[in-house]
Amino acid sequence: MTPHVISLSPEYSVTTEQAEKLLRLQRETLEQVALGVDYREILDSLCKTAEQMVSDSLASIMVYDDTGSFLTVLAAPSIPPVAIEVLNGLVPSEHAGSCGTAVHSNQPQYVTDTRTDRRWCDLQSFVDSFSIGACWSCPIKIKKDKAMGSFALSSFEKRAPSAFYKQLLEISAHIAGIILKRQQEEQSFQKLAYYDALTGLANRTSFNSQLSLAIERAVAQNSQLAVFILDLDGFKDINDAQGRNIGDMVLKWVAAKLQSALTEAHILARLGGDEFAILVKYPDKPLTIEPLVSRILALFKQKIPVAQHEFSLSTSIGISVFPDDGQSAQNLLRNADTALHEAKKSGRNCAKSYNEKLTHLVRRKMDLMTDMRAALINADFILYYQPQFCQKTNKLLAIEALVRWQHPEKGLIPPNDFIPIAEQSGFINELGLWIFTEACQQCKKWWDSGVPYFSLAINLSVKQLNAENMQKFEDILIGMNFPVQNLEIEVTESLVMHQESLHELKKLEAMGIRISMDDFGTGHSSLAQLKNLPLSKLKIDRSFIKDLTNNENDKVIVKTIIAMGRSFGLKIVAEGVETVEQQEFLVEQGCDLIQGYLLSRPIPPEELENLFDQL
Ligand SMILES: [Mg+2]
Repeated sequence: MTPHVISLSPEYSVTTEQAEKLLRLQRETLEQVALGVDYREILDSLCKTAEQMVSDSLASIMVYDDTGSFLTVLAAPSIPPVAIEVLNGLVPSEHAGSCGTAVHSNQPQYVTDTRTDRRWCDLQSFVDSFSIGACWSCPIKIKKDKAMGSFALSSFEKRAPSAFYKQLLEISAHIAGIILKRQQEEQSFQKLAYYDALTGLANRTSFNSQLSLAIERAVAQNSQLAVFILDLDGFKDINDAQGRNIGDMVLKWVAAKLQSALTEAHILARLGGDEFAILVKYPDKPLTIEPLVSRILALFKQKIPVAQHEFSLSTSIGISVFPDDGQSAQNLLRNADTALHEAKKSGRNCAKSYNEKLTHLVRRKMDLMTDMRAALINADFILYYQPQFCQKTNKLLAIEALVRWQHPEKGLIPPNDFIPIAEQSGFINELGLWIFTEACQQCKKWWDSGVPYFSLAINLSVKQLNAENMQKFEDILIGMNFPVQNLEIEVTESLVMHQESLHELKKLEAMGIRISMDDFGTGHSSLAQLKNLPLSKLKIDRSFIKDLTNNENDKVIVKTIIAMGRSFGLKIVAEGVETVEQQEFLVEQGCDLIQGYLLSRPIPPEELENLFDQL
């Protein structure tokens, strides 16, 4: 029986059986769309169905990337990943194979022999690698729009498409177009519903739902989270004086700056107007919010450059913490808002927590941070020096510079109380630079006046080991013609965990500066790891020296450190030596240098001068 011929499209004639297959393909695919199946899954199944209808064929769908400049493969369930990788990035042109040419020309391209067809002349290595014989491709477009991609069927043999195959290609490309268009609309609808159009940040609706989810997770993990609400101080003045356009640009600047100060653990949203919110997730206790608070407040220290103006703004922050300050998204937001009003009332440019105790703690740290900046300007920091003596000759060989803070109201503040806060807030960079300059200048002055050379040791925090500081240190040393062979830098074991810092440390070594491992034995490094560091000295931590004469364990540890350290060619210094017995044990074990109250406390420079006869 001759199949009955019907016409689906005026150009092609197909049999009834073929027409039914095409109609079924359309119906089944559109059913999946209606059922809300994921669009990628639908496109994959569209490809597979087309492949079943054309023997020995491989179907693929390519679409423009987000920038609209090249094509990427969106669906190709039977094509190996290695071939997909080659196809990704195809730029539409007259010689971009069947797909690139179809998109470029907005017309179907039926290439029957890829080896001889000029449309494939630039892709011959692809033809060779994957043995492509023929490739037919149809542009994907909605109505008369510009093509957004292509639907293609390739085969290993050379062949021309039948009327039915052409019809199949056109229908598949059309359906793919419907699916992609729908997907785009859904995406922009989502954007409108959940994102702030001005800044691109999450909006209030999105923030609320993410906060609720985070609370559920925090309950399950028994962890905490915090909500920050920020309100810009004085933004209304800018808006009133400069107009809304400028105001909007300032808001965009603020949004981008805030985002740059956050990590994956944070979600930033614009709640409306000049009000922003941050969700801070804490998978681990304890809660630490001070570093983030100081990072945010510091952002507003810089001027905001917008449309030939430079604006100064600050922000007030209200903080609530789950579970202490509220169990629901609504309560947490309300209490953070209450705290925000408190922050506004108490002079703005500060953070207030809903929880009183926390507020107090934050305030104390914030006060200390503010005071530290003032102390640097007012010259309230001073340097003391603690000598290190050779255990054999009792000669003064080196001094360690140690910072002290002479607070005008609180008196002398020990470094342990302010160095960690300086490290958290980033102030360590400024303070560290001052210490470095001051200590080098002081020693240079002594040596220039005829005092014999000794080593100057300066402590560096891992936070200071960055390229910017290294350059500044080098400039300072060159600027004062400092004899670098007399300089030692003390670093702690935490460095071993930071590859980048290690890289910076090697720059110091390359300048001819010696490196000491400070407080050795308290961190996580092993003696074996020391081999990879550019060290010349090892300082045994005071905690092993304290009970040295009574504690057998400490004796063994100290003996081992000295023996191993010496076998690596390092000089060994014992810190915190307070008694003659300790000294005698250390000398017996071959410790090279002694530092501690037994021989000298850290002393101001003028007192140190009295010891210069021991040089
Ligand atoms: Mg030290």
